[in-house]
Amino acid sequence: MKCPVCKTTELITGKLDENLTSLNCPDCGGNWIRGAEYWEWVERHGSELAERLHETETLSLAEPGLPIDCPECRFRMVKYLVGRGLSFSLDHCQGCKGIWLDRNEWEALKKRNLHDDLNTMFTSFWQTEAHREAKKKRMIDIYISRFGADDYGEIKRIRWWLDTKTNKEELMAYLTDRDPYAA
Ligand SMILES: [Zn+2]
Ligand SMILES: [Zn+2]
Repeated sequence: MKCPVCKTTELITGKLDENLTSLNCPDCGGNWIRGAEYWEWVERHGSELAERLHETETLSLAEPGLPIDCPECRFRMVKYLVGRGLSFSLDHCQGCKGIWLDRNEWEALKKRNLHDDLNTMFTSFWQTEAHREAKKKRMIDIYISRFGADDYGEIKRIRWWLDTKTNKEELMAYLTDRDPYAA
């Protein structure tokens, strides 16, 4: 079977985890997990591990890639956002249920204990949340580039402070009035 990213490289059988084999690409470092094998592994392994939050990601991950076709059944694969602070997507085949992971993605998921949650990740519930998170991050980046990081931090603080006040409207009126002493 050929690598869906490199196209011509032949995939080699390897071990991705205890009791989990994958087909690995020696060129791009990607891994193909057959659908049935993953579900079997999840059943043996269980998926009760608590998610580890706030792990800083230091692994070198691949750049977001182009759409790819399933190496097994040639279906165009669907990209699923991981979210939870991880900004990459996984490719999933709706036909054979196989999963493609770019280099280091399994390791990044494992560090957060998300590697046993891929079945949940492929649900619309998870995806809605991940897209909301990605949109928020894009908005934060826009505000930072518009205001600068320091001013963005300051205005966020003021916003939070205003939200704690019962007379928020009055305070806002004072703030935006060109001459609040001319009344
Ligand atoms: Zn490859
Ligand atoms: Zn497939």
